[in-house]
Amino acid sequence: MKRFLIILFSSVALLSLAACSNDDDLSSTSVIRESTTEENDFDRWLQRNYVEPYNIQFKYRFEDIESDMSYYLTPASYEQSIAMSKLVLHMCLQAYDEITGSTDFIKAYFPKILYLVGSYAYKTNGSVVLGTAEAGAKITLYNVDGLNTATVNAKTSYFKTLHHEFGHILNQTKPYSTDFAEISGPDYVQDQCFDVYKTDESALKDGFISPYASKADSEDFVELISLYVNRTADEWEDMLTTAGSSGREKIESKFEIVYNYMKNSWNIDLDKLREIVLRRAAEAPNLDFDSLE
Ligand SMILES: [Zn+2]
Repeated sequence: MKRFLIILFSSVALLSLAACSNDDDLSSTSVIRESTTEENDFDRWLQRNYVEPYNIQFKYRFEDIESDMSYYLTPASYEQSIAMSKLVLHMCLQAYDEITGSTDFIKAYFPKILYLVGSYAYKTNGSVVLGTAEAGAKITLYNVDGLNTATVNAKTSYFKTLHHEFGHILNQTKPYSTDFAEISGPDYVQDQCFDVYKTDESALKDGFISPYASKADSEDFVELISLYVNRTADEWEDMLTTAGSSGREKIESKFEIVYNYMKNSWNIDLDKLREIVLRRAAEAPNLDFDSLE
């Protein structure tokens, strides 16, 4: 919005300048310059692996226009960006290809821009932004320089973030039943989520799969997707045990709606997707992070 306002103000300024100028000798040279960045091996690899199959722009070069100006941010390193591109492909995009049987699903619904930032984005209240999604068009991944390929696993935050943000897009495309919001109805706490729930345990006991899930029903819904596909059946059961009987009951009722929504609206069986995601996550540390063939 801020960006839009800035653009709006500059256009107004240009218009007013134009209105009071009688100068006809305008230069014929455009002031808009084409980017002169030279294409490297990684750009060509991205063309073959992101643009051609999915029409996704994987933006690893820092661009002010893509960045949130309210944070102090640094670019992602070249090597870390390559590693991230391979992991996102293997652990997320191809997991959906595998369950749906083609690249069409990701091509149709996944955001068209993936933007990398090297650092975290810290909020003034001390919380950290892991990822953001804008109007279904773009996902930003922060702290790319903090990625450790040797220890990457299903619970590594970036990949949970991708499933979370993608879940929002699926919901925006096909809304879920209003019954979902009624289960925890008055218990949603909006921006107070991390104040009210300082631990996972306290959130679980109130029927939220994570503290962030208590923010709003839309967050609750996609937290249930993203945490489910990144956990084994035993890990999920442990969370429900921690939730106790009343927490468990709420989480199970909500998850039933989530599971049926994914099955009926998207023909995706979350149990099968989980199996695929966990297998791919286990394979991830052994991917070839050097080759750009
Ligand atoms: Zn969200």
